[in-house]
Amino acid sequence: MELQDIRDVIIIGSGPAGLTAALYAARAELKPLVIAGSAPGGQLMLTSEVENYPGFPTGIMGPELMAHMDKQAKHFGAEVINEDVTSVSFAHAPFSVKTHSAEYFAHSIIIATGAEANWLGLDNEQRLRGKGVSACATCDGFFFKDKEVVVIGGGDSAMEEALFLTKFATKVTVLHRRAEFRASKIMLKRAQDNPKISFVTDVTVTDVLGENNVGGVRIKDNNTGQERDIAAGGYFAAIGHSPATKIFKEAGIETDEKGYITPKRFTETNIPGVFVAGDVHDHRYRQAVTAAGEGCKAALDVEKYLAEREGQPLPLPQEQWGKSE
Ligand code: NAP
Repeated sequence: MELQDIRDVIIIGSGPAGLTAALYAARAELKPLVIAGSAPGGQLMLTSEVENYPGFPTGIMGPELMAHMDKQAKHFGAEVINEDVTSVSFAHAPFSVKTHSAEYFAHSIIIATGAEANWLGLDNEQRLRGKGVSACATCDGFFFKDKEVVVIGGGDSAMEEALFLTKFATKVTVLHRRAEFRASKIMLKRAQDNPKISFVTDVTVTDVLGENNVGGVRIKDNNTGQERDIAAGGYFAAIGHSPATKIFKEAGIETDEKGYITPKRFTETNIPGVFVAGDVHDHRYRQAVTAAGEGCKAALDVEKYLAEREGQPLPLPQEQWGKSE
């Protein structure tokens, strides 16, 4: 392995956080390598129109926005490879990042692997994604003006989504699998007090109905086993998110009990030189624009981290020499 094989920074993930980090790192002449994943672009690739990303007064399609971000980062010199990271080692510098085909080394890392909405796993739920099936009322609620919609879940997200949707929808029905709610009392009460929101509890959603667009859902009463259909033009899953952090936890990165990475100082994790940006640590805001802002912050923190270490001898572990492609 030549010394120049060690990158200044590797960015793992290619949603708004990863690509904004890549843009800033590239413009700082850090020649970032973005390991984008085999399905690059993140959650916005599954969204239709994005109307709340500043700078696009009439909105922009999610995949088009991501294509712009990718092009902009590459324009300034970011290298992007569409491979999945299989493992990482942060035990000592330089850090190692493995994919199926190669091993890469870097002085610093930005983790921007995002989080994925959980789904019930029904075939028609996947088929009708973007055609009435959504997991983000803030992103898609506007498209359900004057329609009836259902929200699946009984936590704070379900209540928040339901309340937000009342701005547009004529009726919001919350479907929950139990009679008790996980949501906080205040959020639950707010939803219960809203005349547009009704609740059906102790039910399982067994199918999403509709040919080209959502037309309703089929639910099963958990006590009687009886099935019935509810008409709805929109279906919002609010059954939690899962951050993509498994390989990082195995490498010693600290997370909270739900698996979200917990930064220690600004965007830096518990391992110096490893930074984090976007939904992989943020379960509160989860917006494209906040993720992009965090990508910017992480890249600036990396720049400062590397500048502070300039001229210091590299602790190159001998056992890693000769391992790169
Ligand atoms: P959550 O608290 O884990 O709730 C998930 C809900 O989905 C639960 O009601 C759960 O049912 C249900 N669920 C999970 N898997 C299901 C399945 N396969 N089929 C049917 N139902 C399923 O997740 P969250 O609501 O996204 O909240 C995540 C965190 O963010 C929480 O800490 C929450 O307080 C916080 N949050 C806060 C706010 C706020 O303060 N404004 C807003 C949103 C979220 P069971 O209850 O039966 O398990």
